[in-house]
Amino acid sequence: MAKGNAVVIFMSTSKLKIYLDDTVKDSELFQSKKEFEICKPEIFKYGIMMEEIPNHIKEADFDYLQSKVPAYDLLHSDFINLYTNRIENISNDDRKKKLISEIIGVAFGIKYTTELLKTNPNKFKKIGVPDDGKYLDYSIIEDNKEYELETKGTVAKYYSTFKNDILQKKKDQSSKNVFLRFGTIAMINSLGDTKKSQCVIVDDPPNEDNVANDKNSFEVQLLNYGIFLSYILDSKYFNRYIKPLKQKKIKKVKIDKNKFFTKYIFSGKEFYGECFDYRLIRENEYTNLNLSEDKTSDFQERTRLFGKTKFFIGVDSSVIETINRKDIESLKNYKSNWIFEDKELTTRFLDKDGILIVKSKDGDDKQLERVFPEKEVEKRLGLSIDQQRGIAHKCGAPCRSKEIKGKPCEIRTYREYCHFHR
Ligand SMILES: [Zn+2]
Repeated sequence: MAKGNAVVIFMSTSKLKIYLDDTVKDSELFQSKKEFEICKPEIFKYGIMMEEIPNHIKEADFDYLQSKVPAYDLLHSDFINLYTNRIENISNDDRKKKLISEIIGVAFGIKYTTELLKTNPNKFKKIGVPDDGKYLDYSIIEDNKEYELETKGTVAKYYSTFKNDILQKKKDQSSKNVFLRFGTIAMINSLGDTKKSQCVIVDDPPNEDNVANDKNSFEVQLLNYGIFLSYILDSKYFNRYIKPLKQKKIKKVKIDKNKFFTKYIFSGKEFYGECFDYRLIRENEYTNLNLSEDKTSDFQERTRLFGKTKFFIGVDSSVIETINRKDIESLKNYKSNWIFEDKELTTRFLDKDGILIVKSKDGDDKQLERVFPEKEVEKRLGLSIDQQRGIAHKCGAPCRSKEIKGKPCEIRTYREYCHFHR
């Protein structure tokens, strides 16, 4: 946006006030925090985190491999506006509006709790019943105390129905004994509503008798990295990561750094991950693209529609090494710096859990452009179009077995190379 224009300026971060409901207003713990700050890529990241982790990703699932992440970002960019002290949910579609309020609800709840308990987003465990495959409730253990967090998000004026809902659930006799069960309600705005957004905290008193042990903390952290790995690690190797983890065979959980698409250097560290682009979003509810017969013109048409918006999502290499060593204590104590760099065409966001998200337009970020050039985007789009038309190609990688060494592999695949050659 040009400087000096007297138009609405969207921010990339918002500072939100915390409002303590009557149920918590005397609590020392909650009184310790008055406000928190959240940036746009952070909301996007929590949107990914609330998803269910897939048990297995199919070879040809291009939606999962390269379409879902940019589709999420597009949803966030189109329907969430940040201002200095308010956040707008501007969707007019009921289902989408609810989803966006829920995402912001989770983002507020986890960000607030992370700062309140001075902990790390990688330690939250998903609990409760997922709504449409999305988790709204979380638990976390800090200093042998277990906290359960119920998140809500709304554009409504009043929060009493949400509060009653939270308190009702807590009365439920079947629920487990924890130190503290509380709720956060993100009170955000509809388009044009200029009140300040806030985060309301609701709870009942802590129970000092309940001591929790966090013997599963490593597993919880591995699951949290698992949701990101499902998008950024080659599906064959993601499946090998998640299978033993779900079977609780932690010793067998390993991540091969060489099986990421690329790495990106930021703040003196290496991050391993995957790249994404708006142009690789498959036709879905958020976009309306028709496949063209001619791949090159299809690519050009998409570039005209979406411009060049590229992403990198990666994980700190030291996190990978720590996981591979099964170094429980180091992962528990791991804490990256929280960094948010916001330039006109490029944003780079590094969270405390070592997840880096880079978003860049028009080739502005030279490093991203180098690892993810235009020809790679066009190639991926070509593979995706072929797959949608049911056209597989021969893998072509040189065979490694003795008798036929060097002979091009004839296995048909939708990916660049077959399952054996990746
Ligand atoms: Zn092959």
